[in-house]
This record gives sequence, structure tokens and C-alpha cells, in this order.
Amino acid sequence: MTPWRILYRGSLSSCNYDCSYCPFAKTTNTVEQLAKDRKELERFVDWVSQQKRQIGILFTPWGEALGHPAYRQALVRLSSMPHINRVSIQTNLSATLNDLSAANRNTLALWSTFHPTQTSVEEFLKRCAVLELMGIRYSVGVVGLREHFPAIEVLRNRLPAEVYVWVNAFKTIPDYYQPGEVDYLARIDPYFRWNLYRYPSLGGDCRTGDQVFSVDGAGEVRRCHFVPARIGNIYDDDFEDCLRPRPCPVATCGCHIGYVHRPLLDLGRLFGGGLLERIPDRWPQIEPAFVNGPALVD
Ligand code: SF4
Ligand code: SF4
Repeated sequence: MTPWRILYRGSLSSCNYDCSYCPFAKTTNTVEQLAKDRKELERFVDWVSQQKRQIGILFTPWGEALGHPAYRQALVRLSSMPHINRVSIQTNLSATLNDLSAANRNTLALWSTFHPTQTSVEEFLKRCAVLELMGIRYSVGVVGLREHFPAIEVLRNRLPAEVYVWVNAFKTIPDYYQPGEVDYLARIDPYFRWNLYRYPSLGGDCRTGDQVFSVDGAGEVRRCHFVPARIGNIYDDDFEDCLRPRPCPVATCGCHIGYVHRPLLDLGRLFGGGLLERIPDRWPQIEPAFVNGPALVD
């Protein structure tokens, strides 16, 4: 059976941070909304437990989820299921991590992001040190705004070489980077150039909707987070019938959690089993074939 990669984004829509570049329309969740999100999450984890194939899961919450015990418990539970080959979550790393001591370190890995206006480098490094002590693998990322450059450099210099530090290109303002700045960031994240573009994708091959799909709190399935059309529901008996190869229906794709699933870019060769948590397979070994970015974009 073909393995699946699932991106789960439940009803949760709140965060303890307030980043100016936040892509999410953050709200404050009520107690009732959080209870609903928790129930939906538990139902999803139960559903995953009943599947027979290899599955990798990335939680991509519309806010910060790790502060909620139910998400930490879900990670622990999923990490120990024999058919789960990877479970990860996008997190600002501000929450307590103690519960994760019960997780299987072979499958759990965190996608951590540092937000310079919301916490200090020192505080963030302390959170990373906790992960080191716990033996939990993680990547660290930062949005590549110019004012973040000093913090990005400090993070790279102070984190262990084994930790991959990635930089998300700031693409909101076209042609944002000045001469030399891309080279500078690529010296910190050797694969930075892959994130510089919004790749033309209309009509192109993409594994989403087939081997990769996103699931919301109600079990509704979409091919990815960037194409709103529903294709099925995991709680339907005939759910698997909705999974098949189909071309991308939108003009461009510019987010790691989307374009890594495009066969054309071949990024599976770089990230291997670390695709979901964004850790290159052989990091800290640099892959020369990937440092210049994509050949198909000038
Ligand atoms: S931590 Fe993430 S979800 Fe929270 S405000 Fe910042 S960018 Fe948004
Ligand atoms: S190329 Fe990107 S936007 Fe298009 S279907 Fe794939 S992940 Fe979605």
C-alpha cells in the first residue's frame, strides 16, 4: 500500500504570539471551541490508529497548538503507533515540553520557528536546549526579514551543527532582497534558494490529493492547504476513492509544505524521511546538487 503523508489542521485558531507577518487570521478560542477542537483531534488520532498503511503526519495548526495538552498527548500517542513513520508539528516552541518525554524519538520531530518580536534568542535557545536534553529532533526556522538577520546568524552559530536552521524567504514584497542578501542567507541555510520563489504550478504534477492530503477537524479532505476544494472525508467508508493523481489547479505554489510534494522539484531526494519536519535527510552534510536552488527558475 502506498504510504500517506497527512497535513492536519483542526479548528484551533488561536496563538499566544502576535507576529506581524502571521499568515493566519488569528482569533481567540472559547472554552467550547477548544473542547470541540480536542474532540476532533481525538477522533482523528483514533482514525489514524485504525489505518493499515505507513503514515507520516504534520500538524499545521492555524495558530499555536503545542500549548494544549491534547496536542502533546496526540503526538505521544501517534509517535508510538507501529505504522506511523513520522509525526511532527509546527510550533513556536513556547509551551511546556515535558509530556513529550513519553514520545517515541524515532518518529517524533518538531518543526520549530523562532519569532524575533515575540521572544528573545536566549529564551528560544533555552527551549532548544530542552529538546536536546530530551533527545527530540527538530528544525529551526525564521522568516528572512532584514531586521531578523542578526538573530538568524546568532541562532545558526549557537545551535548544534546537527540542527538544520532554515530561512523562509520574505515574499510578500516582490524583489525584497538587495544584492548580496540572498548569498548571505544561503550561507546560513544552504537550501534557502529553494524557498525564494512562487513556482508556476498550474496543470503540473503534484502528489497532493493522492499520496499527500490535508485533513481538517471535521475530517474533510483537501489536496493541500492552498486549494480550498474538498475532495472527500476520511470518515466516509469510501474515502480512499477520492485519492488519485490530479494536476495542480492553481497558478503558483510558494510554500515548503506544498512545493516539496511536486515531483518536478525532486526535493524528496534532499529531505528524504525528514520532509515533514523540514530536516534534510543527511544534514549536516551539504548536498552540492541542491545548494544553487532550482534549475527551472532563473
Ligand atoms: S507564532 Fe505562528 S501562528 Fe502564532 S502569531 Fe506567530 S506566525 Fe502566527
Ligand atoms: S503544487 Fe502546491 S498548490 Fe498545487 S496542488 Fe500541489 S501543493 Fe497544492
